[in-house]
Amino acid sequence: MTFTLETEVATVLRPLVGVLALQGDVREHAHALDASGADFLAVRRESELSEVDGLVIPGGESTTISRLLDTFELLDPLRKRIADGLPTYGSCAGMILLASTVLDGRPDQNQLGGLDITVRRNAFGRQVDSFEEDLDVTGVTGGPLRAVFIRAPWVESASAEVEVLARVPDVPSAAAAAGRIVAVRQGATLATAFHPELTGDTRVHRLFVEMVRAAA
Ligand code: GLN
Repeated sequence: MTFTLETEVATVLRPLVGVLALQGDVREHAHALDASGADFLAVRRESELSEVDGLVIPGGESTTISRLLDTFELLDPLRKRIADGLPTYGSCAGMILLASTVLDGRPDQNQLGGLDITVRRNAFGRQVDSFEEDLDVTGVTGGPLRAVFIRAPWVESASAEVEVLARVPDVPSAAAAAGRIVAVRQGATLATAFHPELTGDTRVHRLFVEMVRAAA
């Protein structure tokens, strides 16, 4: 592609954001990205990955996505793009895949890098399928955000390089999860344990699209 001033301006105004489309809730992220001022591309192959200005790794099942990354020969190309600074946002299973260390994972589960954190899979308890709470998220203005957790991980520990953006509030309904870290950022990598794509509130996606624009 030849870069003209027009294409460069278009990238900054409306960046092309991929959603890893091997498994998980791809369509919901596509809608949220569109509403947040980005164009969307489903990413299943390396050629598609090479086109995008940013990438969302959706919720789903991290062990399945990990296996499919191998099958689709995307594991190494994706690790490389993330290491090279591709803005990446992982929700739930996506957060697990971006973490450097996983507790309660499968021993053969692949990690993409991007976040110096330890996550615990299914941390809210295997019997707790879903849980909702209002959260204050650093970088998201306009009041608390309704966070939907579905068999979600939490961040058990984070290195000093990682900015903690949200914790579960200390309210009775949160019980043992109170105080746990559920949203983080490290450089161009953003992750939430919850699913903002399911609520119609696009503020997290807007934050991510801003990160993509800033990196472009
Ligand atoms: N429990 C799932 C996993 O381990 C994540 C669930 C989700 O993405 N909603 O990957």
